Amino acid sequence: MEPQAIDIGMALAEQFPPLSAHAAAVEADRCLYCYDAPCTHACPTHIDIPRFIKKIATRNLRGSAQTIFAANLLGATCARVCPVQELCEGACVLGADHKPIAIGRLQRYAMDYAQGHGVRPAVEATPKGRPIAVIGAGPAGLSCAGELAKWGHAVTIFEKRELPGGLSTYGIIALREPTAVALEETRMIESLGVKIETGVEFGRDLSLAAVRAEFDALVLSAGLGRTPRLAIPGEEAILDGLAFIEASKIDPKSLHIGRNVIVIGAGNTAIDCATIAIRLGAERVTMVYRRNEREMSCYAHEYDFARREGIEFRFLSQPKRVLIENRAPLGLECLRVQLGAPDASGRPSPALVPGSEFVLPADQIVKAVGQERPALAALLGLKTSKGFIAVDPDFRTSLDGVYAIGDCIRASGAASTVMAVEDGKLAAAAIHRQLAESGSRAWGDEPTAAEVR
Ligand SMILES: Cc1cc2nc3c(=O)[nH]c(=O)nc-3n(C[C@H](O)[C@H](O)[C@H](O)COP(=O)(O)OP(=O)(O)OC[C@H]3O[C@@H](n4cnc5c(N)ncnc54)[C@H](O)[C@@H]3O)c2cc1C
Ligand code: SF4
Repeated sequence: MEPQAIDIGMALAEQFPPLSAHAAAVEADRCLYCYDAPCTHACPTHIDIPRFIKKIATRNLRGSAQTIFAANLLGATCARVCPVQELCEGACVLGADHKPIAIGRLQRYAMDYAQGHGVRPAVEATPKGRPIAVIGAGPAGLSCAGELAKWGHAVTIFEKRELPGGLSTYGIIALREPTAVALEETRMIESLGVKIETGVEFGRDLSLAAVRAEFDALVLSAGLGRTPRLAIPGEEAILDGLAFIEASKIDPKSLHIGRNVIVIGAGNTAIDCATIAIRLGAERVTMVYRRNEREMSCYAHEYDFARREGIEFRFLSQPKRVLIENRAPLGLECLRVQLGAPDASGRPSPALVPGSEFVLPADQIVKAVGQERPALAALLGLKTSKGFIAVDPDFRTSLDGVYAIGDCIRASGAASTVMAVEDGKLAAAAIHRQLAESGSRAWGDEPTAAEVR
């Protein structure tokens, strides 16, 4: 089915409309402005939530935005994509007896005002500090660069894609974050004095030696890679989930949607792919997962959302091969799975049931089974942990002067935008401190093994 038949803008429009001024004021007035507020503790970036809400209640939207910026430069993105049920709103004292305060929507209200009225974070210094290079303009890199700029450093971000913003621009379904919001946020970071050079891939167009010659420190915030291979026959007929979501945001007209769509995986990316398919006209969308619903890695509210959308689930099913006719999929052959003792991840290990093959008909199959580990670790010979770049508490990698933040270091715990933003903020403070203390560049003058290679 061609999605042109459907109004894509409407089908994938932001899930929650903005609050009206009246609704925002009423919601802000419900807040108890708790002392030592649990919502603030639950926010990974520790935004002073009662303070920004109080400023909304007193119609001081500029001040409210500044309170958010002081803790989190990417408040517009976080207001939309944060799993607030698990974080601030989950901790709100009003949650037990009443409804928790709609913190995410209030934050969005203040951030929409900031984006609409050109409110910029307060910057204490002009760029006269040290030159620092950041690789990757996703949430981690933007946060780190913006915070370093606030300390007065001259930061350049090198981004391989055409547009900055990382997964906020290309990967998070428009229903949650439209591309325009992510791009406006990158413009705000640039307004702090940060230079963003797009179309420059570190390791291909820019070497470590070139960075060392020009900059005093290097921050890697390159995220993760593409969707891994399933290594099953017929995989060439399976679409990559990240590319599928990207097309829905950047070039929706290029997106063809099947009638009977299978999505392999059960994380948030898989739910996003399934949502796009059903909203853009698929008659039937089935998510196939080899474990059961208790082991799904998506958030519980995302699972509920998917079921409400009419998405079906086939648990305990392992894809075996794709049935293909004229290069197009006809169906997915699966094997039934039995769960056994916990594996290394602590979840019951899936064991295939011999002879249990069955076929799920499908004319489109999308895989969303995570992302490959960061390629830069091997390129630079960095120490790793489970394939992710290993860092110390100050985000220093095993290579002098090279720091790493965001998804590329997230060896444990769920990767999320707000965690990436907090990494960027903490790393900026550590880099600022270390450069000030050493009085010299973060690296020595001898070439590193990675440069000699
Ligand atoms: C489909 C999907 C949906 C998600 N939904 C949510 C959600 O709803 N809520 C939430 O909190 N989190 C969500 N996440 C997770 C969240 O998007 C990430 O945790 C966050 O984007 C990590 O930020 P980052 O800056 O570390 O990496 P990224 O956002 O991946 O940014 C890395 C950047 O580095 C660039 N880059 C990579 N290699 C190079 C190189 N060699 N040279 C130059 N540039 C390079 C990339 O092009 C990219 O722009 C989702 C993730 C996916 C995949
Ligand atoms: S916990 Fe709830 S009521 Fe208390 S300050 Fe936070 S948002 Fe307001």
